[in-house]
Amino acid sequence: MADKIAIFPGSFDPITLGHVDIIRRGALIFDKIYLAVGENANKNTLFTLEQRLKWLYDVAKEMDNVNVLSYKGLTAHFAKEFNAKYLLRGLRNASDFDYEKTISQLNHIVGEGLETVFFISHPAFSHISSSIVREIIKGQGDVSPFVPEKIHMDLKNNYYKN
Ligand code: ADP
Repeated sequence: MADKIAIFPGSFDPITLGHVDIIRRGALIFDKIYLAVGENANKNTLFTLEQRLKWLYDVAKEMDNVNVLSYKGLTAHFAKEFNAKYLLRGLRNASDFDYEKTISQLNHIVGEGLETVFFISHPAFSHISSSIVREIIKGQGDVSPFVPEKIHMDLKNNYYKN
């Protein structure tokens, strides 16, 4: 049987403990997962692509079957290029569902049968979003409950004014 390859696409601006939970759970099911940062010119991110990728590498290195990439263009085309038949996404609440449902249906058509597999957020992480984390960072607040330790340390050392 062919390897089950999944893409976990996102902005990861920055990666949070909510994302990490989805990645760990996905890694138990799929043979390989690509954490894929979409380079979307229309999206203004707080952190550079390079920085976001660095933090993703840091998370990926704890698992044998998780790799990190960035891509331009459509996620469905990228998935085909990497022979991935699945997209991995997380659902925190009903508004995630409404948004993800449409994207998933579109990807199924554009990706010629590309399936999206959804993980329901663990209750301990369902309140965490990258956008809230960015707001806390901009306000120089403590994000240690929401992001991997390495990110917290990097922010303390390089980003926060003392
Ligand atoms: P995008 O820019 O594509 O929305 P994000 O990096 O914000 O990218 O999110 C990527 C995926 O991770 C989405 O499916 C999102 O619903 C999911 N996600 C984000 N935060 C959490 C969380 N706390 N728990 C579970 N899933 C999450």
